[in-house]
Amino acid sequence: MTTTRDYYEILGVSKDATEAEIKKEYRKLAMKYHPDKNKEPDAEEKFKEISEAYAVLSDTEKREQYDRFGHAGIDSRYTQEDIFRNADFGGFSDLGDIFGSIFGGGGGFGGFGGGQRRQGPSRGSDLRYDMTITLEQAAKGTETTINVPRAERCDVCGGTGAKPGTSPKTCSNCHGSGQVTHARDTPFGRFMSTTTCNVCHGRGQVIETPCPACKGTGKIKKVRKISVKVPKGADNGIRLKIRGEGEEGSPGAPSGDLYVVIHVEPHDKFQRVGNDILYEQLISFSMAALGADVMVPTLHGKVKMSIKLGTQTHSILRLKGKGMPYLHGRGQGDQLVRVIVKTPTKLTGDQKDLLKKYQKLENGSDMKNPKGGKGIFGKMKGAFEAGI
Ligand SMILES: [Zn+2]
Ligand SMILES: [Zn+2]
Repeated sequence: MTTTRDYYEILGVSKDATEAEIKKEYRKLAMKYHPDKNKEPDAEEKFKEISEAYAVLSDTEKREQYDRFGHAGIDSRYTQEDIFRNADFGGFSDLGDIFGSIFGGGGGFGGFGGGQRRQGPSRGSDLRYDMTITLEQAAKGTETTINVPRAERCDVCGGTGAKPGTSPKTCSNCHGSGQVTHARDTPFGRFMSTTTCNVCHGRGQVIETPCPACKGTGKIKKVRKISVKVPKGADNGIRLKIRGEGEEGSPGAPSGDLYVVIHVEPHDKFQRVGNDILYEQLISFSMAALGADVMVPTLHGKVKMSIKLGTQTHSILRLKGKGMPYLHGRGQGDQLVRVIVKTPTKLTGDQKDLLKKYQKLENGSDMKNPKGGKGIFGKMKGAFEAGI
C-alpha cells in the first residue's frame, strides 16, 4: 500500500458510485496528473495513488473487501503487485504506456493499454547449458558454437496459442483473474481462501480453438546456435551469463538469460590446484645423482627444466608462470614438477658390474650408513604444509 487515504476520497466519488462513475473520475484525474503532462514534483505520486484507488474500486472483489475491512482488508489479502494485477486499465490507451514506465514493466502489471491481455507479461525463464572443455582449452580460452534448444514465440499465432482468426476467451470460472475465492461461513465468522483457478490454471484465459502449430502453448521449440567465449583461466563450475538468450518471455516481456556452466575434463598428465598445475616427472637415478636437463611438457608447450646434481626423489621444482592464467586479472600460476626417481628393475650384466664397483666406492660417502626416521617425515610434512 502506498496510500492511507480513503480510496473513494482520492477519486472524489461517493461510496455508492457506479463502475462507470469510478472509471470516469479516474480518467479525468489520470489525465490531470499524467507525469508526461503534469510537471509538478508530486504528480507521479498522485498518479500512483489514484491508480491504486482505481485498481481496488474497479474490481468487485477488492472493492467489497475494502468496503468491509478498509485498508487493512486490502493489505492482508493483496501485495502491491496483486492490487494492480488484473486491474482493468483497458480503454485508457490515451494515457500512453505510462503504466509501464511508472510501475516498472515486466513486473506483472499486465492489462494496461490494450485491455485484452489480463495476465501480466512475464520474463522468460533462464536456461542452463553444461559445457565440457579440456584443460588446454581452459588455459588458452576458447570460442565455440553451442546448440541451445529453447521455446520461442509461435509465429503462426503470435504467441497467443489461439488458432489464427480466433482469440483466447476470458475464463468464465475466474473472470480472468486466474484465482478463485471461496467463502466459508463458520461460527467464528467468514473465512475466505483463494486458490488458482483450475479451469485456466491461473492464466485468466482459455483457448477454445488451439493453434495447430504450437497446440495452444504459444511457444515452439527451436534450436539456436549461440557463440560462447570461454575466458582464459576458466575453472570447473564457473557460470558464463549470456544475456537474453534464455527462454523467450511473453509478448512485451524480456527473454531470460542463458547460463553456460563450465566443466573442465580431468587431464591425464596435469592436475590443477587453483592456478597452479601439478605434474610428475620420472627421472633415472643417475640423472638425479649427476644432474641433467629434461624437457617437461606444460600447458604452454615443452619447457627445459634443469635438475640439479643430487636431487632427491619427490623434490618439487617450480616452473614460474607455466600454470593457469588468472581468470580475473593479469598473470598466471606456476607449474609444480614433482621429480620421481625411478629405480631400475632390470639391469644388464655391465650395469650390474658398474653398480657393484660404485657400491664399493660408496664407503666413505654419506650413503655408507643410510639413515631413516623422523627427519624424512619432517621434510614431507613441511612440503604438505607448503601446500605442495
Ligand atoms: Zn501457435
Ligand atoms: Zn480461470
